[in-house]
Amino acid sequence: MRRSADELNKMRKAGKVVAEMHEATRAAIRPGVTTMQLNEIAAEVLAKRGARSNFLNYHGFPAVICTSPNDMIVHGIPGGYVLEEGDIISIDCGAIVEGYHGDAAFTAGVGQISSEASRLIEVTERSLWAGIDELVIGNRLHEVGRAVQKVAESARFSVVREYVGHAIGTAMHESPQVPNYWPGTPGPTLKEGMVFAIEPMVNVGSYETYVLEDGWGVMTQDGALSAHFEHTIAVTKNGPEVFTIA
Ligand code: MG
Ligand code: MG
Repeated sequence: MRRSADELNKMRKAGKVVAEMHEATRAAIRPGVTTMQLNEIAAEVLAKRGARSNFLNYHGFPAVICTSPNDMIVHGIPGGYVLEEGDIISIDCGAIVEGYHGDAAFTAGVGQISSEASRLIEVTERSLWAGIDELVIGNRLHEVGRAVQKVAESARFSVVREYVGHAIGTAMHESPQVPNYWPGTPGPTLKEGMVFAIEPMVNVGSYETYVLEDGWGVMTQDGALSAHFEHTIAVTKNGPEVFTIA
């Protein structure tokens, strides 16, 4: 789906709100803070900007952000979990402005973290940017996943298979999906005005996952660490435009 200049403008605004949610939650990360407190901070940003949440009530999800510590990959429900020195925490945020969606995530360390954890975070973020670089007119969508996978696997990490990126616009999750790996068949050709949420989930160990009994939290099967970075990006004449940065 190709978005008009007017639609892209609304998505730009939604992206700025998501970027502000990132800034506010990132600044609050420290030992002793609960994931519910991070959710409240993000909710305040939405309220201040008059934006709606695309996470709250999504298939019954009870919060405006996802908070996924350590071996949790994505979709963690904020609650009483207290951040500890040495944890890593993935925070996924979204906002709706004038009917248009933004969606982005980051992983950060809590206090001092292990060298392996910091390497995982660095590699996952770098894999996202390698994917973003492929969002150019005339390229094929599967090149995104190929680029992400190359960065992650070169670092001897693995890329999650069951959860993928997506097109985004008047809904958070639109077709087509954007795998973070070579999907076996070529993707559609990229055109001006297409908008995607690219979101590599990278594991230190194997890419296998399971879901917690709450029906949301997605965990690494082997208990090893996982990181998640995401941006909402438009394909433009001037190359990829990232909406979810300040
Ligand atoms: Mg997201
Ligand atoms: Mg997403």
